[in-house]
Amino acid sequence: MALTTIDNFINNEFVKPTEGAYFDTFNPAHGVPHAQIPDSTKSDVDLAYKAASTAFTSWSKTTKAERARILYKIADLIDARQDEFVRAESKDQGKPISLAKSVDIPRAAYNFRFFAGRILHSVEEAAELEGVGFNYSQRMPIGVAGLISPWNLPLYLLTWKIAPCIACGNTAICKPSEFTSLTAYMLCSVLKDAGLPAGVVNMVFGTGMKAGQALVEHPRIPLISFTGGTVTGAKIIANSAPHFKKLSLELGGKNANIIFADCDFEKALTTSLRSSFANQGEICLCGSRIFVERPIYEKFLNGLVEGAKKLKVGDPSAADTNLGALVSKEHWEKVRSYIDLGVEEGGKIECGGKKPASLQGEFQNGYFLEPTIISGLTPSCRVMREEIFGPVVTIYAFDTEEEVVQITNDSEYGLSCSLWTENGRRARRVAGEIQAGTVWVNTWMARDLRMPFGGMKKSGLGREGGEHSLDFYTELKTICLAD
Ligand code: NAD
Repeated sequence: MALTTIDNFINNEFVKPTEGAYFDTFNPAHGVPHAQIPDSTKSDVDLAYKAASTAFTSWSKTTKAERARILYKIADLIDARQDEFVRAESKDQGKPISLAKSVDIPRAAYNFRFFAGRILHSVEEAAELEGVGFNYSQRMPIGVAGLISPWNLPLYLLTWKIAPCIACGNTAICKPSEFTSLTAYMLCSVLKDAGLPAGVVNMVFGTGMKAGQALVEHPRIPLISFTGGTVTGAKIIANSAPHFKKLSLELGGKNANIIFADCDFEKALTTSLRSSFANQGEICLCGSRIFVERPIYEKFLNGLVEGAKKLKVGDPSAADTNLGALVSKEHWEKVRSYIDLGVEEGGKIECGGKKPASLQGEFQNGYFLEPTIISGLTPSCRVMREEIFGPVVTIYAFDTEEEVVQITNDSEYGLSCSLWTENGRRARRVAGEIQAGTVWVNTWMARDLRMPFGGMKKSGLGREGGEHSLDFYTELKTICLAD
């Protein structure tokens, strides 16, 4: 089958990488190459920079109303091409088409709509300075931003960066994940069709080591918004340090899912199946450490295992598929190695652990893995401490509120946490003590884009969402006017 060839998008034109090199990306459900993407280098980033810095001069001066108009148009065009985007995201990433249709692509459109509205309704500060005059604050666009995104929610997370970046009057050079570049490539035509001026958004495709690092080390790019792994985040801090860049880092997690005995059992169970295995467990917010209060431990474990065994793993394009394929062979092997490690560390595989035997035809070469539940490990085990980022969860019985707060917080990560209880006072008390950027009580992954989002400890630096995104993508200035 002919491979789709992707090109960089610079100054509203598709251009070949300067060194002419491409590499294959895979359809994870079939385990075969399906697209070729540019292996871009520093010289491609330099070209994109030239376009983005030229565009900044005029884009930064457009009115908010004009920027909002274009952002609304982009959202409308994503909606109009929803089916195309949904199919591409599922094929490129391995996720079930139902998830791409209900989560990824609608949210990508909403990111543009949300920030179009947000800039129109923002109000700056003003204060009288008695005897002198008055002060007011003003937001200035900063310049050319480097936007680096991961493979798990490709278009969703990339547009979460592009929308506030350009809404605030900046221009962008994007570096989508080398594993999932297809929907970012399709977005380029949408941006052009929506009337976004040339150079405002540029895409440079390729690896993190070449294209990503060139963005981070570029002396004239003053801000980097990065979502990805914690190890990469540390490299980005080090490599950008000489240039004093503004950084927003959304990194890894090892999120707790705490089930108290007084919870709404059925709701906790059904949602825990989702928070464990949605997107094959490849969502940074998945609850991979499940802590269950002892009186209901056995019942909850049995319910979870029974539910996990019923989940359908296979063809991502089938409407009733629950888990598609993991993103790559390397990632499949990494996730699988944690299952072996769990056994070595004394754990019991309650279900899953293997490639499903039911796969037929071309899917036999895909990177599928059964939903896996491991019991019998202690909180000091590596499997309970390290991010696995696949359909593998651990389950552990706790006895007291103090104990579960302590083991939840005894983690180098602090991204999110879910807790389940019908006791409102306990919910507020525990939520207040948990070290995580987001705590959900009796729900999971309910996102409100107006609220701060980000991680504590090694899960990130800074917050995005609503006003916090505006703070990142602008410089705030105080102007003092004397009487
Ligand atoms: P990754 O860190 O390997 O890659 C992310 C992006 O960074 C890719 O585009 C990659 O090419 C680029 N990159 C790699 N090395 C680079 C370098 N030295 N300089 C600049 N760019 C570089 O992460 P991944 O495997 O794509 O994504 C999975 C990780 O992302 C998980 O740890 C997950 O928890 C995390 N994540 C976090 C959030 C969040 O909101 N906190 C959301 C989604 C995913």
